[in-house]
Amino acid sequence: MDIPVEIVSDEEMAFIEAALSLCSPPLMAEEKIASDSEDIQMEIEESPLQRHRVHQRRALSVTDITSTEWCEKQMEFSLIHGRPEKTTAMRAGSARHTELEAEVLIRMELAVHTREDSWAVKLLNFITGANQLLFDGLTRELPIIGLVEGVWLIGVIDEVRMCELSGIKQPIMVDTKTRSQAALPSEPQKRNGRLQLMCYKFLWDNIVTEDFPSSSFFQYFGLHPQRILSKDIRKHIGDSGMGKNVQSLDDLVKFYKRTCKSLPSAHKSLLIRYELQADRSLLAEDDFLFEATSFENQLHLNLQYWLGQRAATFVAWDENWKCNYCSFSNVCPRVQILSQEKK
Ligand code: SF4
Repeated sequence: MDIPVEIVSDEEMAFIEAALSLCSPPLMAEEKIASDSEDIQMEIEESPLQRHRVHQRRALSVTDITSTEWCEKQMEFSLIHGRPEKTTAMRAGSARHTELEAEVLIRMELAVHTREDSWAVKLLNFITGANQLLFDGLTRELPIIGLVEGVWLIGVIDEVRMCELSGIKQPIMVDTKTRSQAALPSEPQKRNGRLQLMCYKFLWDNIVTEDFPSSSFFQYFGLHPQRILSKDIRKHIGDSGMGKNVQSLDDLVKFYKRTCKSLPSAHKSLLIRYELQADRSLLAEDDFLFEATSFENQLHLNLQYWLGQRAATFVAWDENWKCNYCSFSNVCPRVQILSQEKK
């Protein structure tokens, strides 16, 4: 049996999108004629989502959501100053995920010239992964995107397994977290990992039960639905058996929507595997259930910050230890308050 193909990595896609966003026209014509003072006024009033995602035609990522849950102030600092460089442990974690991905997927390079091509690749990766899940019972590094509370949210699911429980086949979302030391995660780390998987389950159910909002998708990301996709992509689509009629992004979105509709909703069981980096031995498994109400409340609270409805908060007092590992501790007022209290 052919091993399904993942065309381009998400990091590569992010790079391409960043490059394309630099060439894209401004969002609103009014912005061009606004005076300096109006520009400043607008900057003050804009939400973090507007300023850091909407103007760049970028979706909010699941990582944005989990980083915000970890510490809203830290998220805010990283938007202003840029994300801290990856640590050795983080790089080791990424390398492990690449390894796990290579066990079930082969990467293939395709020419991507336009923003439409870039999105086509994402949708193709989802369609390929979904087919792999249905036929082989497992897929990895599955990109997923949905509109949640009016916000475009994107993520990449580590692993989806098809499981049969009580005679019903349903996908289960799985995440592998690598640990540099043979110690179990703290409660806040576990809570953060659980939020990530709950986001994936929520997004999955969103796309398989709701109609994909194509018009909003094309408009938000500044896409031309009828633009013909690159020759490479069209050839790949033809070779994959999706038919010669899929020529434009609009054609592919229609195919994508049909694929989503053919999938069952995800099981409420979610699984996080904690693995030791040194020898890849399994340290622990966190098997838990999706709790719709508490998840939706958490997401809503999180989005309030992104939508500019309230200011970013510091970590809870009983989680002050997070500040010891924070790259922004030298500029954060919370740390100054703590050090004054100690004097
Ligand atoms: S120092 Fe602490 S409160 Fe401040 S941003 Fe970092 S983690 Fe958050």
